[in-house]
Amino acid sequence: MQPYRYEELSWPQVREAVRRDPVVVLPVGTTEQHGPHLPLMTDYLTAALIAEAAVRSLAEQAGADGPPALVMHPVPYSFNEHHLDYPGTIAIDAHTIIDYLACIGRSLAHHGFRHLVLFNGHGSNVPFIDIAARLVNNQTEAICAALSWWSLLHPEDLSWRESAYPGGFSHACEAETSLILHLQGDLVDMTKAVKAMDEVQRSEHIFWDLAKGGPVNFQEFFSRNSSTGIQGDPTLATSEKGKVLADAATGHLASFLLEFRAREIRPRRDFHDRPQPPSR
Ligand SMILES: [Zn+2]
Repeated sequence: MQPYRYEELSWPQVREAVRRDPVVVLPVGTTEQHGPHLPLMTDYLTAALIAEAAVRSLAEQAGADGPPALVMHPVPYSFNEHHLDYPGTIAIDAHTIIDYLACIGRSLAHHGFRHLVLFNGHGSNVPFIDIAARLVNNQTEAICAALSWWSLLHPEDLSWRESAYPGGFSHACEAETSLILHLQGDLVDMTKAVKAMDEVQRSEHIFWDLAKGGPVNFQEFFSRNSSTGIQGDPTLATSEKGKVLADAATGHLASFLLEFRAREIRPRRDFHDRPQPPSR
């Protein structure tokens, strides 16, 4: 199998890879508190390992044709000022993370890659990866899409869910804890996992859940609603649930990458009818 991890390539291998027109996947996470039972790296671990599994599966299927996708090192820091009340969180300013991601996209486009995907593991990254992807679309010859591991899931992928909706899947919750138990279980201390559902202020229009959030965008300081850093019920998490979740997200990402790679990049058209400048 040919290499599929971007940073392991040499520059002649990058030049060769561009000829295959692979999709390049950039996992984006964050470093922030995830309750007393999960590591700070939770959100970039999920994004990185699901992206790697999807790209590896495509590389295995492709064999000698060469991998149809490449996966990059994850971006481990991003926007999360609202978690700073808990020790450990590293917060990046909003414009910095947008510019940083767009710089990576512009560099990839400069080298000739044409299909780029930002793959996210952190809820609060969603508006920032969306804007960064739009900047890459508007400023380069490449196309760039942004999505999160939970946005790929079908309702049947969550049939194992036991925690209440809404709120059971929110932060350091049944879903995230199950994923880390499966992906790197030695980093989880389930003796410190506690149910944290009732402390959160929820209303008709404001609630959080990875399966489907409320209709209003609103994120206040996390500590106003959680004394543990948890929102949800991680006591229901198991590594078996995490495997179902990881396998589903991996499979859906792999099929999206093939779909996006096949997307035609049509030429722009200019429909202006501007007056000609006067001839001299
Ligand atoms: Zn998280």
